[in-house]
Amino acid sequence: MWPFLARAALPLRYVRRARPATMRGLFPVPQIPQIRRDAPRALSQDVLALRGAAEEKVKTMVSGLNYLDGPVADRAAKPLLGRAITILGAGIGGLTAALALARRGAQVTVLEQAEALREVGAGIQVSPNAMRVLWALGLGEAIGACAPAAASVTLRDYAGGREVAHLDLAGMAELGGYRLVHRADLVAELAQAAQAAGVRLRLGVTVSAVQAGAAGVRLDFADGGYATAPLVIGADGVRGLARSAISGRAPEPAFTGQVAWRALVPLPTPVEPRVQVMMGKGQHLVCYPLRDRRVMNLVAVQERADWAPEGWHHEDDPDNLRAAFADFGGPVPDLLARVKQVNLWGLFRHEVPDQWARGRLVLLGDAVHPTLPFLAQGACMAMEDAWVLAECLSAREDISAALTAYQSARLARCRRIVAAANSNAWAYHLRMPGFRQAAHLALRLGDSLAPGAALRRFDWLYRHDVTVGSA
Ligand SMILES: Cc1cc2nc3c(=O)[nH]c(=O)nc-3n(C[C@H](O)[C@H](O)[C@H](O)COP(=O)(O)OP(=O)(O)OC[C@H]3O[C@@H](n4cnc5c(N)ncnc54)[C@H](O)[C@@H]3O)c2cc1C
Repeated sequence: MWPFLARAALPLRYVRRARPATMRGLFPVPQIPQIRRDAPRALSQDVLALRGAAEEKVKTMVSGLNYLDGPVADRAAKPLLGRAITILGAGIGGLTAALALARRGAQVTVLEQAEALREVGAGIQVSPNAMRVLWALGLGEAIGACAPAAASVTLRDYAGGREVAHLDLAGMAELGGYRLVHRADLVAELAQAAQAAGVRLRLGVTVSAVQAGAAGVRLDFADGGYATAPLVIGADGVRGLARSAISGRAPEPAFTGQVAWRALVPLPTPVEPRVQVMMGKGQHLVCYPLRDRRVMNLVAVQERADWAPEGWHHEDDPDNLRAAFADFGGPVPDLLARVKQVNLWGLFRHEVPDQWARGRLVLLGDAVHPTLPFLAQGACMAMEDAWVLAECLSAREDISAALTAYQSARLARCRRIVAAANSNAWAYHLRMPGFRQAAHLALRLGDSLAPGAALRRFDWLYRHDVTVGSA
């Protein structure tokens, strides 16, 4: 039981009660507490908790009466019915898990430190292996409506923009699609669907400590409170708290000697939905359009000795990016000239640990296997994890057995993806002139002699389907 739910002495003068409009007069339903505008902030949290509990009751009543949903007690359709699950972190991994679990009947609460789900991040490529999860959750069309389908990936030489190799992605449509998505749009779609499925999203809640036990997990909050939850999913991202509660202090991640700038640039007219990779000496730049194809997403990676922190929120001066890529040709100078705001991210190699769960605490996404961006799979892996975890929990009554099955299903695949991303960077960054030209020639020849062969090397990645029998 959350202690703040049990708190009796709420100054109720700040609370108004109202029945949901759609249900008034139909039958007796719980009243939903509303917060008055003049309520103090700390109190709002308590009212939100009460409100969440009342909303859950209403939802249960509605779904119990809705013949399309089937009877609420149908454990086959909702194997996690009544199971309370707390998720730490409302990123792509946490929200996907929340939705997948709520659809199976779990009572899910997501705790997120941010006050609002803002436009954080930039573009991400969502490949078919993760699109299948989104389709299975009913979000395939919504993502298709807000994110262009990638037509191809073209590797180019940095100076004049000469094409080195071309991967046609047309065949990806039948596998589920390869989409170029704004992270904020994906987060918004997931959050909306999760809330519609009954997930309680509690924003502005910072967890300050996590302690895993066999019977439950204790969470301490930055405001001094604490709670014990029967099952917690740590989806708190890279360098999150949950990981150290499982395996102690993680080994210090190694700085790769590379940094990535990320920026969004408005375009005057829509462009073709192609991923372009401009390969330079010790650096490369990836660009692709987002949304209505009038916003270009840029990721510019440079090898350098000085360290930069890891995370979405570190701003940099756009002139530093322009200076670093000053000798790039093709479309790059024009795009860089229009960059107004840029974030800088230090790229680190993290070990994927052997242990993903302890007692009733389990990890997913960047919390357990942060990866370099050179295979565009961090968010995709998090979505795969979320689906598999929900399936494993649904297929087994025993939670420890379910968490063991989840780790067994995911560990080798995630390690393979992280290793493949680690080994990809050097290929884009060749410096020695002879070696560089020979490698580019080999890529060009390979492309013309066996078109499609380069993409087939990634069948293990893109054709993997966790939505079929992953438990
Ligand atoms: C340059 C770059 C390009 C990338 N491109 C791609 C791509 O094309 N395709 C792809 O699949 N991936 C890509 N990624 C990776 C992808 O962005 C991440 O892997 C993914 O966003 C991880 O999601 P997550 O939910 O695991 O973690 P996060 O998105 O980090 O979410 C964690 C959440 O937990 C919250 N939180 C943390 N600690 C606490 C706490 N103590 N209390 C409460 N809340 C807390 C955070 O506020 C956050 O909202 C890229 C990454 C980089 C750096």
